[in-house]
Amino acid sequence: MSKFWSPFVKNLVPYVPGEQPKLTKLVKLNTNENPYGPSPKALAAMQTELNDNLRLYPDPNSDLLKQAVAKYYGVQSNQVFLGNGSDEVLAHIFHGLLQHDKPLLFPDISYSFYPVYCGLYGITFDAVPLDEQFQINPADYAKPNGGIIFPNPNAPTGCLLALDAVEQILKASPDSVVVVDEAYIDFGGETAISLVDRYPNLLVTQTLSKSRSLAGLRVGLAVGHPDLIEALERIKNSFNSYPLDRLAIVGAAAAFEDREYFDKTCRLVIESRDKVVGQLEAKGFEVLPSAANFIFARHPKHDAAGLAAKLREQGVIVRHFKQERIAQFLRISMGTPEQNQALIDGLGDL
Ligand SMILES: *Cc1c(COP(=O)(O)O)cnc(C)c1O
Repeated sequence: MSKFWSPFVKNLVPYVPGEQPKLTKLVKLNTNENPYGPSPKALAAMQTELNDNLRLYPDPNSDLLKQAVAKYYGVQSNQVFLGNGSDEVLAHIFHGLLQHDKPLLFPDISYSFYPVYCGLYGITFDAVPLDEQFQINPADYAKPNGGIIFPNPNAPTGCLLALDAVEQILKASPDSVVVVDEAYIDFGGETAISLVDRYPNLLVTQTLSKSRSLAGLRVGLAVGHPDLIEALERIKNSFNSYPLDRLAIVGAAAAFEDREYFDKTCRLVIESRDKVVGQLEAKGFEVLPSAANFIFARHPKHDAAGLAAKLREQGVIVRHFKQERIAQFLRISMGTPEQNQALIDGLGDL
């Protein structure tokens, strides 16, 4: 703390990202990155862009990428918003669309950045408990609110909410913005983007960090009614006109165009998940049903923090949350088959 700080900085509670270790030998199954590299076409596009043009500012509207996203999802360019990672997109959403008198609703077990943005923008919230099976119950969101946000599949549980249940939430709160954070939707869910033309209160966010293996590039997006997008553009253009650099624009656009590589790598991750779930269940773990590129598991006889420490000694890092309701769970990202085997071997006989 310093006398130079603005008063409100003293009370901020920042988000704590998963560890990014400097040691490269570690099997890193803690931050849900994709074990397969980005599309070779995305890498080639960025290499071509690595030239003298970098002295020029990028297109502030990232039109090339907006068009690629619009084409991919069958929407119009003015229904697409882009940002420096979906975390930045979410920040603008909280700032521009979720700041109201009534509380924002999100699940009690959810992406831990949501309460951080509430703190940053002075938004009151009401954490709605997941049910006993760690599922979102749509009926619990049918109450007065200033907005609703939830990841689908949820994080860190991996559990998917079916599209008709998402629709139930949208119908019950027609006067609130409902944000569906689809960071993991490509690993087994169905996107709610198909609903944006029918629900002007729906905003869907996605990221290229997980299914398109570009966490290092920082590209995220939102799709919704042009009026919602316009609010986000107003915030963006009052904050940073150039959130996406030249490399990010061409790399992300090429990634969206390379469907074949995308389909193949998503399929490999899903196959790994199915295999690891079976292996963990054979060791006595209870694994929540996952539609994501990670699984959330607990062992009835072994303490989660102890298991995480044991794995770490063997060079495998997984994520453990101290939050009370989930303190006995481990969140494990899917790696390559070799990395997943290191996990299974590291757990040993339980
Ligand atoms: C990873 C993640 C994000 C953020 O993704 P970036 O685009 O890398 O900022 C957003 N929401 C959820 C639920 C995530 O897991």
